[in-house]
Amino acid sequence: MHESMTDGGSARVATASMSELEAQIRTCQLCKLSKTRTRAVPGEGDVHAEVMFIGEGPGFNEDKQGRPFVGQAGSFLNELLSIAGLDRQTAYITNVVKCRPPGNRDPEPEEITACAPYLERQMALINPRVIVTLGRFSMARFFPGEKISQIHGTARVVNGRMCVAMYHPAAGLHQASLADTIRADFRKLPVYVEQARIMFQPSAEEAEERVAASELAREEVIYEPQTAAVLDDAPEPEAKDVQEGEAAATPGNEDENEPPDEKDGDYGQLTFF
Ligand code: SF4
Repeated sequence: MHESMTDGGSARVATASMSELEAQIRTCQLCKLSKTRTRAVPGEGDVHAEVMFIGEGPGFNEDKQGRPFVGQAGSFLNELLSIAGLDRQTAYITNVVKCRPPGNRDPEPEEITACAPYLERQMALINPRVIVTLGRFSMARFFPGEKISQIHGTARVVNGRMCVAMYHPAAGLHQASLADTIRADFRKLPVYVEQARIMFQPSAEEAEERVAASELAREEVIYEPQTAAVLDDAPEPEAKDVQEGEAAATPGNEDENEPPDEKDGDYGQLTFF
């Protein structure tokens, strides 16, 4: 017998990690969509993604494969992600309901309500700066009472996140004239992401973690045999065991008081926040 969302089920969702949450979704029977689905589709992507995409619900192919946006609409979404400088590895993609409504009908209000705690928990775990709604049903969660035809491509701050309303990619497949409109909307996305970075500065703890992560990534680049060979002053790969103080004496760190050279200028274009 499964738990209802009003008893232990809700508590389990509220404290679940992403892998626990996905496992719960795959066996969930909280609404009638569980009776007709082949596979539930929790979502996929980077669990620390800066941008989270929320669609409507799985379709035929998604239901078979258990992955979001894998059909024709998925191919179009991949193109749109690329326009925005993103991909499936750096973003997180999910839906309002995790199981396919039969015949691709609209999800019913009680199904959206039953599935909402999973979406809430995903948002809490990922903590994205930007949420992109794909279609009417996810838009309704962040832009209640609005019409997608009037607000597509626009953004609004909701509960400390930048929320951007986009047409569902499938709309561009059904209506060719909309495809270019959707592409144009996605071209604006990097601007919204940058605005969100400025508006929602990371906490001191998050900033520290990101600086540490970026330092690690930088050291991996320097010690990676293929890249070390092209970095003039980088130590040989076997010098990996040098003391931490020596490791800091890599290009760009030798004297913090010296003006940056051309190479530093290139590094300066990288943004970690
Ligand atoms: S749609 Fe959501 S609430 Fe309904 S069975 Fe699937 S996972 Fe559970």
